[in-house]
Amino acid sequence: MSLETNIKASIRDIPDFPKPGIMFKDITPIFENQALCNDIVNGFIERMDVKPDAIIGIESRGFLFGLLIANKLNIPFVLVRKAGKLPYKTISYEYELEYGTAKIEMHLDSLQKGWNVLIHDDLLATGGTADAAAHLVTQQGANVCGFNFVVGLEFLNGKEKLYKHSNNITCLAQY
Ligand code: AMP
Repeated sequence: MSLETNIKASIRDIPDFPKPGIMFKDITPIFENQALCNDIVNGFIERMDVKPDAIIGIESRGFLFGLLIANKLNIPFVLVRKAGKLPYKTISYEYELEYGTAKIEMHLDSLQKGWNVLIHDDLLATGGTADAAAHLVTQQGANVCGFNFVVGLEFLNGKEKLYKHSNNITCLAQY
């Protein structure tokens, strides 16, 4: 079976969570399957054109595979968190949500100028969160060399928001 088929077989659809009309893709069963976790990490690495200098993981499910990928590549892992969660000095970026705004942050000493950075999250929906993370990367003088996600919701066209940063966008399982 393909990696995509195996991932889809482990994802649980939860209708109307966290609010009516949302079909939540629950990836937690994946973490109970060590072989699949390994295949996912290797699948991400095989699909990279260049080895990045660092991996960014977006709170909170982006931390799970993000750190595993970074460790396997022997490169730094950098956390992007919701405002107010990181303890040291931060830079922040505010972006629009369907209703209101959200703010994310990164420690200001995490990236070096000129680094090629890959942004990872569990799921690409509208692309707003990954786009905001990309702004944090470029604010630090680093380059976004790509994005990767376990799941992509194609019908929401999130990739369109990310092409201005990089054309290198990988979703292992597409819906
Ligand atoms: P977006 O900024 O719209 O691309 O949303 C991406 C973020 O929201 C990711 O961090 C996802 O974990 C989460 N997310 C959005 N939609 C879903 C969904 N249907 N199922 C699971 N997570 C979702």
